[in-house]
Amino acid sequence: MPKFDYDLFVIGGGSGGVRAARIAAGYGAKVAVAEESRVGGTCVIRGCVPKKLLSYAAHFHEDFEDARNYGWTVSEASFDWPTLIANKDREIDRLNGIYKKLLSGSKVALLETRAILVDPHTVELAGKRVTAKNILIAVGGWPERPDIPGIEHSITSNEAFHLQNLPREIVVVGGGYIAVEFAGIFNGLGAKVTQLYRGEQILRGFDDDVRNFLAAEMAKKGIDIRTRSDVARIDKAGERLKLTLLDGSTLDCGAVMYATGRRAKTDGMGLAETGVDLNANGTIAVDATSQTSVPNIHAIGDCTGRVNLTPVAIREGHAYADSIFGGKAWHVDHRNIASAVFSHPPVGVVGLSEADARKDGRALDIYKADFKPLKHTITGRDERTLMKLVVDRASQVVLGAHMVGMDAPEIIQALAIAVKMGATKAQFDAAIAVHPTAAEEFVTMRTPV
Ligand code: NDP
Repeated sequence: MPKFDYDLFVIGGGSGGVRAARIAAGYGAKVAVAEESRVGGTCVIRGCVPKKLLSYAAHFHEDFEDARNYGWTVSEASFDWPTLIANKDREIDRLNGIYKKLLSGSKVALLETRAILVDPHTVELAGKRVTAKNILIAVGGWPERPDIPGIEHSITSNEAFHLQNLPREIVVVGGGYIAVEFAGIFNGLGAKVTQLYRGEQILRGFDDDVRNFLAAEMAKKGIDIRTRSDVARIDKAGERLKLTLLDGSTLDCGAVMYATGRRAKTDGMGLAETGVDLNANGTIAVDATSQTSVPNIHAIGDCTGRVNLTPVAIREGHAYADSIFGGKAWHVDHRNIASAVFSHPPVGVVGLSEADARKDGRALDIYKADFKPLKHTITGRDERTLMKLVVDRASQVVLGAHMVGMDAPEIIQALAIAVKMGATKAQFDAAIAVHPTAAEEFVTMRTPV
């Protein structure tokens, strides 16, 4: 009789948990995954994937306008939110099905219920207890909202994906990834958008040139970004909402969406009782190998708050399964991870911002290009592109690459290879340009600014 029911019990069927489960099962481990919501997790069900579909939808608005100067006659375009949401839901259902098939095809047992820890080797599922030699926690995060009067009248990104109708005016609170992305989506789909951010400039942590440039581009598209601004209370006025801001002014709108950060979904899971240490912000404390304070319990992905991105969670899950079940120990290098903000226009970055690169007193060469993309020479649209390289003057290594503009996420993915390899500016320049592209600027910037 085996000592445990499972070799591995994974709590959380998001991208990271599913990857770890499948890889471990591939090594012959007996694996179960518990998921209380829908397999696929934040990214597939209520995050990256549906968000990107909505973002595509929002781009058509300008595409129709831009087509005219290219000779197209476009009759009055109109947009139907319920059609978009229904089609988006169909695609999410399809992906959810694929994730389930991936698990069953890998012989991983799926238990569609909440799991909580009882002790280091036992989990409880709807009153039933199962045991496992190893436990992996991959429970992700959940939107967090400040506790202000009337906050219950607001929505988060979770609800935004399922609104019955597109509100005519919407206020987005926050200045991070999600706020900036949804401001662009709602605006592109035709809503009047006001974005309130408590700090000096949106996208804190990104390169300052990127932040300022994006804010200016968003404003040109009609988004009213109000910095140093926050909501004091929300009151319902019939079908509408009245927001009272900290400065006493008021805003009338059809909906308010909070994108004020996400919190690890670790509450009520029996973590403290089992001896799993948490960080002050509620994330699970782990070492480089994703091990928690309990040796046979590991944690990956957003619930550890290292770098909250899907591909990072997947990599952490893969490293965990290889290390524990495959006899191939390795761990994830969290440096120089590229990321994108699917704002309008989008942002792509990899490596250090100029401010972060200067922190240890390094001398830098900064290269910048700010131009009107070829496409818009004919459309007449006043949209510009920014590219920036942060180069260590002594070694000439490219420490950071930053872009705001059409296709930035696609371009930065390829550049991430070079930055991760430690390429120098001369090695960038040795690559001959692909012409005419925007990306060619990254290999043709000659003079530091
Ligand atoms: P972020 O942490 O990126 O941003 C939260 C924003 O809300 C910040 O601007 C923050 O301000 C503000 N804020 C926090 N608390 C309050 C408060 N009490 N009142 C008013 N404003 C507040 O969180 P998101 O929710 O946007 O995204 C969560 C994470 O998900 C991201 O960090 C990212 O890792 C991931 N993500 C990645 C995406 C991508 O790769 N494209 C897309 C979406 C999410 P301040 O700056 O002052 O702290």
